[in-house]
Parts: sequence; C-alpha cells; structure tokens
Amino acid sequence: MEKKQFQAESKRLLEMMINSIYSQKEVFLRELISNASDAIDKIYYKALTDDTLTFNKDSYYIKVIPNKANRTLTIIDTGIGMSKEDLENNLGIIAKSGSLAFKSENELKDGHDIIGQFGVGFYAAFMVADVVTVISKALGQEEAYKWESEGADGYTITPFEKEQVGTEIILKIKENIEEENFDEYLEEYRLKAIIKKYSDFIRYPIKMEMTGKRPIEGNETELEDYTEEQIINSMVPIWRKNKNELTTEDYEKFYTEKHYGFDKPLKHIHISVDGTIRYNAILYIPEKIPFDYYSKEFEKGLELYSNGVLIMNKCSDLLPDYFSFVKGMVDSEDLTLNISREMLQHDRQLKLIEKNINKKIKSELLSLLKNEREKYEEFYKSFGRQLKFGVYNDFGTHKEVLQDLIMFYSSKEKKMVTLDEYVSRMTEDQKYIYYASGESNERIEKLPQTELLAEKGYEILYFTDDIDEFAIRMLMNYKEKEFKSVSSGDLGLDEEEIEKADENEQNENKELFDFMKNVLADKVKDVRLSKRLRSHPVCLTTDGEISIEMEKVLNSMPD
Ligand code: ADP
Ligand code: MG
Repeated sequence: MEKKQFQAESKRLLEMMINSIYSQKEVFLRELISNASDAIDKIYYKALTDDTLTFNKDSYYIKVIPNKANRTLTIIDTGIGMSKEDLENNLGIIAKSGSLAFKSENELKDGHDIIGQFGVGFYAAFMVADVVTVISKALGQEEAYKWESEGADGYTITPFEKEQVGTEIILKIKENIEEENFDEYLEEYRLKAIIKKYSDFIRYPIKMEMTGKRPIEGNETELEDYTEEQIINSMVPIWRKNKNELTTEDYEKFYTEKHYGFDKPLKHIHISVDGTIRYNAILYIPEKIPFDYYSKEFEKGLELYSNGVLIMNKCSDLLPDYFSFVKGMVDSEDLTLNISREMLQHDRQLKLIEKNINKKIKSELLSLLKNEREKYEEFYKSFGRQLKFGVYNDFGTHKEVLQDLIMFYSSKEKKMVTLDEYVSRMTEDQKYIYYASGESNERIEKLPQTELLAEKGYEILYFTDDIDEFAIRMLMNYKEKEFKSVSSGDLGLDEEEIEKADENEQNENKELFDFMKNVLADKVKDVRLSKRLRSHPVCLTTDGEISIEMEKVLNSMPD
C-alpha cells in the first residue's frame, strides 16, 4: 500500500499562523532579534571548532533602523547569514528550523544559548509588515541573495549585492487601519521599549540611532538636536553574574529598572540551581506594601525568561498565594515552551521551580527573623496578614511553611513574638497557648477574662486582626500545644476544678442567677459563679466552637 504524505494548504496555514499564534503584535521584534542573536551564536560556535575562524565580539551586533519616510523597519545582523538553499529551506518551509538542525548537527546540548526551535517565529514579521525582504550573505560564500514575500502569495529569491556576511531584514510597515496603529513600530522610543522588554538580555549589542534634544553644554536654557547610536540592551543578565561580584546597590538598581516597585527592596534572594532543573532567579521581598496589594486588581507572579528572552510578564504559577508579595524573575533553559513562546507546554518544570523557590523564600524569611529582627517586623507589618491568610487557607500543606513565620503581640513581652518563642517560655503547668481577641491591644489589655491568666504569669497573645483567630483554628496546635481563647468556658486551669466543685455557693445564689438568666434569656446560655475574675464583676465566656470575636467577623461579612 502506498503511504501518502499529508498535504497542507500552505497559504491558509501561513495566514492562520500569522494571525493566531501571538496575542501581541509587538513580539515580532522579539522573534527577529532572537533569530539575529542565534545567527551570531552560530558563528561563535563554529569558531570554537574551526581554527580558520576567529570570533571577535566587537564585530558582532544587531542593528535596528526605523525609517518613517519610507515606512520601513530594518533589522541587521552580522551573523552567519543564509545561502540560497537556506533561504529556501528555512524561510520557505513553514515549521522548518535551521537553528534546531544546527543544534543537533553540532551536538550542542547544555548551556547553549540558541533560542530558535519551532521554525515559525520569522513569520511574525507579517503581523506588522505588508512586504518582508531578506538580504543575506552566508558565511564562506561569494554570492548574496534577496528573498522577498508579501505573505501568503509566496516568495521570490534573486541574486543581490551584499558585501558583509550576515542578514538584513526590511519590513514594509503596514498602514494604520481603524483602531490598529502600526506607526508605533517606526517610533524610536516605542521600539526601544519593546527591545528592553523582551530582548534586554540578548548577549550581543542591539544598536539603534536615537534622536532627541538635550541642553547645550555650558548653556542651560538652549536645547540642541542630537543623533547618537545607543546600545539598547543590557546584554549581561545580572542573574548570570556571580553573587560575589554583585553589590546590594546592583540588586537595588535592577529592582528599580525592572519596575518591581517604587520602594527599596527589604531583601534580595539570588538563586542559581544546577540540578534536575536548571534555573537562575532573583527575588525580592519588598519593603512597602503595594497600594493595590489587598485588592482584587493585584496580580501576583514573577517574570519568566527562557534563555534570557522574556516569555511571561507575570507567571503566577511560580508563587503560592501566601508569598504573593515576592517580586522578581526566573530564567531557565529547561522550559518546554509552546509555539508562541507565551506559554509553557508542560508545567512539570515550573512545579519543580516553584517548590524550590518556595523553600528558599521560607528559609530566607526565617533567617531574616533570626538575624535581622527589626527588618522582619517591618516586613511582617506589611505582609503578615497574607501569611496568616495562607495558614487559614491551608489544606494541610503550607502549615509547615508558615507556622514559624507568623507573629502576634504578646502580653508579657509587649512586642511581637513568634509561636516558637511563646512555647519556649511556657511554664510546666501551662497546658495551652492562650490568646485574646479584640479591636486593639489596649482594649484586650482591659478584658476581664485576661486577669486570672495574667495573675498566674501566663503569656497571652493578642489577636487584633480579623484573620487571626480563623488562622489559628486552622493551625489547631503548635508543637503539640493547643490554642485556647481567654474567653472559653474551660481555661484548663487547676482553679477551675475548684470552681466546678463549688456547687454549694452556686446553689446558695441560685435565685439570683436564675433571675439574671431570665432577663438575659435570648442573650446568654447560662449564668455562673466564676473564680476567674479579679477586679471586674462579670465577664463573658463561650463554650462553643465560635468565639465572640469570630462571630462578630462572620456577622459583618456580606452574604
Ligand atoms: P526558529 O528561530 O524557531 O528556528 P524562525 O521562523 O524564527 O524559527 O526562523 C527559521 C529559520 O530561519 C531559523 O531556524 C534560521 O535557520 C533561519 N533564520 C531566520 N532568521 C535568520 C537570520 N537573521 N540569520 C540567519 N538565519 C536566520
Ligand atoms: Mg526564531
């Protein structure tokens, strides 16, 4: 039986690809620059094994030239170039990747930087251009060629004059249509922003001529026009540098440049992992709470890079909710991207990275708590609530992570303390971790329910945040010590034995108590004699699961 090959309606395929792969048109520039970088990388790799080739970094660059008058955008590279066959195969066959082939031919496995793999990125140019012209001269060849296409209708290849090895891609930028603005791809500042966003860490210089006005030297009032060639990208990603070579200022500068926040970060975490999954990350714990942090608009996430090229602005899968305040980026060469490079094909690698990062953040926070207490308390003021929400939303997994990070105000220490500190101070006869809920520390201080405990010298944690008691109920216990509200009916004290045994006194006053119970019929369940009180005549206690404070919170919630 003859086996038939699938046919493809290539016109339609190309159209579909051009219009449906990417969610944003601006990524065309990312794709073309990535190709240019790959082309230079190929010379670099060839030079490693070929003695007749030398690689002088200075002669390799990428140049972006907008021309408003002609409506063209040109991207030049001094990379390996394409022969006639290359143009036919790599630009004429959809989904054929010369770069992928290069990687396997040269057995490049680890640590390489070549970005291309799908063989579709180039066509992104047609999202913004009516005509794409590629002029290229391949390394080691005499002739140069011009490839030209208006998209779906096919392409032409003709001999062309070009002196330098490399490639020049000329895009005839589309006219504006209705809401769609294509002019922006001819604006220096817009192009600069796109390059910064996606291609900042391409290893070769991306040059562009920038024009503008600046004050004339020695003359404050007058401005002069200037044109100067600038290198737009930072090139060396800070996260690939050695930690020892970097100063706190370097990290703070990166934080500001990346617009992670307007504050200074409280702490930075630089991670380089070279294990089952390889990745680099720079994470920050911000000092100040973002204005929208506790609102629905706030989006958590880290920037995700693959080989230095930005893939996602806010990858939320990399951070658990309780660490949503963390800012920063992750770069990995081990991600399997989907074809648009906007998403990942598998989340297995991402899960591994997330787990790893999570551990690291926790240990860094713990070390902050241990070694820089003041800084930690500052951090806790801003984000403690989020950690407590984390405990509350726990279904058995993040308790471990969070219980050592939460803090409460202590009656004894008159400052914030951790559960660990509380438990380490408990006396032998103390059975529970006591807490009191209320609006403020001052109010709680005056609660009649706290008197007896205070007299016994027991420490009480003050819960002034709505979430506190809910979180602690989820936690249930810490180091096998259960939590106990000061307003619960049974405080677990020895005095209560006496209190219960003291039936006589209760009976003697039965009439009075019955009367009180009648009057307060729909407000209280019981009225009893108490030994708990010192300076107050009366106090409220609960015997159910829900405390008075929790009830208040629940009642105030919208249905
Ligand atoms: P990918 O980069 O994923 O391989 P592209 O569609 O972006 O797919 O590019 C297809 C192929 O065209 C590349 O693999 C490469 O072989 C070739 N190519 C594209 N641009 C250039 C360039 N500027 N210089 C040399 N070769 C290029
Ligand atoms: Mg590509």
